Amino acid sequence: MTELRGDRRSHRSATADLVVTGRIASLAGDSGPGWVEAIAIVGGRVVAAGRRTDLERMTSAGTHRLDLGPDEVALPGLTDAHLHLVEAALARARVDLEGTSDIEELKQRIRSGASVSEDGATWIEGGGWDVDALGRWPTADDLEHAAPGRLVALWAHDHHALLVSRASLAAADVGAGRLDPAGGVIRRGEDGTATGVLHENAARLVADLVPAPSVETIAAALGPLVAELVSLGVVAVHDPGGLSRQEGLGRPIAAYRRLAAAGRLGVRVHACVRPEQLDAAAGHGLRSGEPLGPDPLDRLRLGWLKTFADGSLGSRTAALLAPIESSPEDRVPGEGSGAGGRGIWLLSPEALAEQADRAARFGIATQIHAIGDAAVRAALDVLAPTARRTALMPRVEHAQLVDELDIPRFAELGIAASMQPVHIRSDAEKARRLWGSRADARAFPMAALARAGAVLATGTDAPVEPIDPWPGVACAVTRQAPSWPAGTEPLGQTQAVSLWRAIRAACVGPAITAGERDRGRLIPGSRADLVVLGATAVAEPVEPGGALWHARPRLVLMDGEVVAGS
Ligand SMILES: [Zn+2]
Repeated sequence: MTELRGDRRSHRSATADLVVTGRIASLAGDSGPGWVEAIAIVGGRVVAAGRRTDLERMTSAGTHRLDLGPDEVALPGLTDAHLHLVEAALARARVDLEGTSDIEELKQRIRSGASVSEDGATWIEGGGWDVDALGRWPTADDLEHAAPGRLVALWAHDHHALLVSRASLAAADVGAGRLDPAGGVIRRGEDGTATGVLHENAARLVADLVPAPSVETIAAALGPLVAELVSLGVVAVHDPGGLSRQEGLGRPIAAYRRLAAAGRLGVRVHACVRPEQLDAAAGHGLRSGEPLGPDPLDRLRLGWLKTFADGSLGSRTAALLAPIESSPEDRVPGEGSGAGGRGIWLLSPEALAEQADRAARFGIATQIHAIGDAAVRAALDVLAPTARRTALMPRVEHAQLVDELDIPRFAELGIAASMQPVHIRSDAEKARRLWGSRADARAFPMAALARAGAVLATGTDAPVEPIDPWPGVACAVTRQAPSWPAGTEPLGQTQAVSLWRAIRAACVGPAITAGERDRGRLIPGSRADLVVLGATAVAEPVEPGGALWHARPRLVLMDGEVVAGS
């Protein structure tokens, strides 16, 4: 590690602090890898990129060298454009229900989670269950077997439903007489009593009772997760925020600020605010893209106002132009209230428009969670008047189903598409079942959006998916996952993008949406954030579950300094 660290020279110095040679994908221009043979770095920034012989002139005795092996390549460091970083860090300490395949296994994992603290006042928190894998909706009665009498709150895999215990329902005063809140559904038995699953806004009835972790707890949890993330090649994160209601600017932002002020934030972060934090952000004079406080490493900035149009595919709450293809046993939340299998609106388009306009007046850009095609259309309508009023691009988050008429509108309006192709792994089967032929035609329509000139920014949506960025990059290209049953067709092969379009969406696209001209590429002026990988990772054709999927950087640099690997 140390051999790359040298005395810092002035930016004006003619000699480089560090010269990297080998096959370097600079991502210059609008497409392809933009291979160069060498880059020269001064003061943490790339000052020259091009032919090796030209850059040799910039070396002196004090210049450090990083000569890539013949089987290696360098790429810009990745940005995860949608990673709930604080939530993902905290999730590590909670009951993990990812991959549970039946109710018995669910109970078993909760039982061991419950045994960690016998204190009845301590909440048992966790998440990761998936109704399709379990075979039926889990219930408070199931929890009673696993953790009798305890306060339990367990998020579904997609975070759009909360499984709670009888004690939790009682604490939230959710009895048979309790009406569904706006934008939410309480699952009920024949007699109207709550059975334990709370959809969308109804989840807040219980979630708001769970004590929020302290600033110290959050800061401590971030350390190990950030180290792991950086070792995977992710140097920047757009954190859309968490699930619990925040007072003022909130504890997650306080934790980020504390780490940044101490020079201990190991990754670049754009932290978003939720609607209830907007006044506090404006009160502090914070604007999108600007620092959140003292920050010697210049790592922390204000991101977007994050707000929600609809629910999710898995919870049958994505807002759709045409109803889902439901089977009789598929009881759809909202159906009883007349939604007719077209999902749920968490906020009306009018209310979203009011929020986005208010935010824009404060200089804060908005990103809207929109999964279904009706929600995407509404999000574009809502965001259009705010485009170009803020330093950051307005964004539609997820855009899992997009109507053909709306595809060109992203580029035309200056609104970015923030997508998580890794969801194809777990969502393709659901998408085909619930959306029918719509799924292969226009789910995760990355190629159509790219052709229409939209800015694409990709991410993992961790903790919904693991923090590893590479399976998502691979999924964007192959549209299939190695975990699928043999013979399963790729999801909408015509929506596959090229390898380098996928890499650009993981490097350049997020930086563009964040108004950062100096990140995501390795061209003169760029911050010297780069990853060194085995060349097989970017060999074509990309195989499902192949080297790109399993890519692991040997070395990661930020601002020209080694931050992971050796
Ligand atoms: Zn998310």
